[in-house]
Amino acid sequence: MISCDLCGYPSRRVWPPSSKCPKFQQVESKNWMTLAACPSCDVRWVGVGWEPYASFEYWVPWEHSDNQWNAEIDDGEGRRIHKWHHEQLKTNEDTLTAEDLADVAVHRARNYGRDPFNAI
Ligand SMILES: [Zn+2]
Repeated sequence: MISCDLCGYPSRRVWPPSSKCPKFQQVESKNWMTLAACPSCDVRWVGVGWEPYASFEYWVPWEHSDNQWNAEIDDGEGRRIHKWHHEQLKTNEDTLTAEDLADVAVHRARNYGRDPFNAI
């Protein structure tokens, strides 16, 4: 499968907060999380904003249906998907490019040394 020119799916597994991150089109937003579509390939991505002010958004692909997202997003006020999202980030940390790591470092500096990859 050839990766999408815009979002990089399926080889790209994480978009950190970056000016290079595609402008995903919102499908649903609930419990501080967003389900959005790549405007080029229509693959779904889930975004979660990290402090400060939830302004540092990390995205991972959602490889299930929109219905599945809707069924799970209310579970425990979204805690299940929130936990899944964080696990996806950690699992795919080794896929981050040097540029991605620089973006994560910017976030970490703004967030008192915390980023999704060193947070418990
Ligand atoms: Zn795409």
